[in-house]
Amino acid sequence: MSNLILTYAEAADVIRQHAKTLLDQKSTAESIPLLASLNRVLAESALADRDQPPFPRSTRDGFACRAEDASSAKPLHVIGQLRAGETWKGSPLEAGQGIEIMTGAPVPSGADCVVMIEHVHLDGKLLRLDPERTIKPGENIVPAGAEAKSGAIIVPAGTRMAAAHVAAAAACGYATVTVHARPRVAILATGDELVPVDHSPLTHQIRNSNSYSLAAQVTLAGAQPVILPVAPDDPAEIESSIHRAADCDLLLLSGGVSMGKYDFVEQALLTLGAEFFFTGAKIQPGRPIVFGRLPQQYFLGLPGNPVSTLVTFLLFAQPLIAALNGEAHGGPRFASAQLTHSLRARPELTRFLPAHMDFSIDAPQATIIPWQGSGDLASTASANGFVVAQANAGDLAAGDHVSVLLV
Ligand code: AMP
Ligand code: MG
Repeated sequence: MSNLILTYAEAADVIRQHAKTLLDQKSTAESIPLLASLNRVLAESALADRDQPPFPRSTRDGFACRAEDASSAKPLHVIGQLRAGETWKGSPLEAGQGIEIMTGAPVPSGADCVVMIEHVHLDGKLLRLDPERTIKPGENIVPAGAEAKSGAIIVPAGTRMAAAHVAAAAACGYATVTVHARPRVAILATGDELVPVDHSPLTHQIRNSNSYSLAAQVTLAGAQPVILPVAPDDPAEIESSIHRAADCDLLLLSGGVSMGKYDFVEQALLTLGAEFFFTGAKIQPGRPIVFGRLPQQYFLGLPGNPVSTLVTFLLFAQPLIAALNGEAHGGPRFASAQLTHSLRARPELTRFLPAHMDFSIDAPQATIIPWQGSGDLASTASANGFVVAQANAGDLAAGDHVSVLLV
């Protein structure tokens, strides 16, 4: 098998191209209750069922009147009051009149502005306005349909539902929404040394944490994890485990993809007719990573070291899952931060170093957490991002801006 070791940028590009292929494939959709749609991807756009706002809405507590009256020194006559949830039943407002109005109430016809309560003096039914203040027609009113016209797209298909999208859909009367069916993602950990989390490992054994980290990441990505039993380092066993994932949309394997004598994942995949798009990336952690396609689905063979597994999922698996979910721009997500310390360059490798990112308003800062390498889950557990040290970027100094891979 050929050695396809790519730079990070090349590997990311290959993933992007295949994600696009997945995005173009039609996936099934399902209708679910609105709140259950959080973090799911809309399959059908949510439309405004009426103009928004449906009436000219007062944005202030105050007095609805005519702007030309508001600029005159003469007091206005207050002829009534209007609360949110009410509509003016009297005749249209005339010159010289004002109607007390609350935020969110429909501005009565005849009025073209709302004077804020803070800017008036009420003396019985006589309303005196501050002559120093000029008010223009339209002030403190959102016209009907100014936010959205009836039938307009409020939340486009392909949107991953966040709180604001749920709110927008609720405002348009969507008790249920149509989302893409959650992709099924098979998780297959391999390794003779692995024991289940609820077993007491012997000194030389390791608890299988990758099935958990991957299942957690898959769930956060809006997909359904299908955890397969751990496969030992045996090509035939790995092959039969891969068969069990045949009905899944994506297969994630962990471990067994390095150059070791007992790393059989590539061999098993090859026997099953896999096509490989890359078999390594110039990144750290995560150098031994394979990406390809079996007749039934795409797969990623992720390195077994737990931090490598976490990072390579974010870089390569997440965008594929997003595409399977119908989401066009599914990450990875990066933010910019100032490094709090210097960092020596490592030419040729793009590094993703576990870091604590302080998301302060004026200058987000990132501090790399000392670690023992890609097996060090203990240090990585306190990280909320990974500082990107670009290949060939040279040494970095404190205060330099870096990209941070967000978890
Ligand atoms: P491998 O990629 O199979 O060479 O494994 C690299 C390192 O990751 C070894 O130290 C393994 O014990 C460890 N490892 C592999 N798979 C897992 C797993 N599922 N959970 C935790 N550690 C693992
Ligand atoms: Mg192994």
